[in-house]
Amino acid sequence: MKHIDLPAQKELLWHRLREDLKSLVPWFADSDLLLCPACCRAIKYDEFSIEHIVPKQAVACDPADARQAVSQNERSGLTLLCRKPLIYKGRKVPGHGCNSWKGKHFDPFLKELLRINFRTTTVNTRHQVALYSVGYLALFRKFGYQVALSPAGLLCRRQFFSPNTFLPDVPLNCQIMLTGEPRAEFKEDEKSYWSEPFSIGVEGSTALVVLRNIGFRVPISRDPTQPFSRILPYSPIKFSFRPDLTTVFE
Ligand SMILES: [Zn+2]
Repeated sequence: MKHIDLPAQKELLWHRLREDLKSLVPWFADSDLLLCPACCRAIKYDEFSIEHIVPKQAVACDPADARQAVSQNERSGLTLLCRKPLIYKGRKVPGHGCNSWKGKHFDPFLKELLRINFRTTTVNTRHQVALYSVGYLALFRKFGYQVALSPAGLLCRRQFFSPNTFLPDVPLNCQIMLTGEPRAEFKEDEKSYWSEPFSIGVEGSTALVVLRNIGFRVPISRDPTQPFSRILPYSPIKFSFRPDLTTVFE
């Protein structure tokens, strides 16, 4: 089922994210822009592309019966990332924006993580930062801009551009991972292992993200499952949300 995709995924994601963003930052209603969840630049539709959060190169290695039963997009989980070139310290970064950045700095490590034998292979910080970064994208995919535009979201966005080491502000409990045995074959009653790449639970100031057989934590500023005011200009602190639009890159 590799080539069977839902129609117009990019358009569907674009409109869903636009509605979410407008509900948090109303002045976006007057523009035709969206914020990239990684660099936070406000850009146009054509400068976005579909991002496979669990990279295509990783899910291509899934067992044949899993590939047959569950589409590639489902096994990856989709979101949008920019493909507008990044400018860092006045110089253009080679490639196509955050999409290329993730592809270069994280995807090879994620592919390894889903394949390696943890009993015999040691993971390094780059594996863990890759995991942390896709954990953030998984949170964004599920909860939208309330995650990206929070202080913890800003920390994740800064970490996205520091692929080699953890930033000092990242909590220590977000710098460890727990692993179990990966599933070696597809079974119908375990279909969700393949069809929903991330399961997410909220525990205090972190979200516990499970990517198949790997569990790890990503910081959050508030429980994203709890409601907050999207319309009232004034509301109790508990129900208010102040978007942080700080960009990490030009
Ligand atoms: Zn970007």
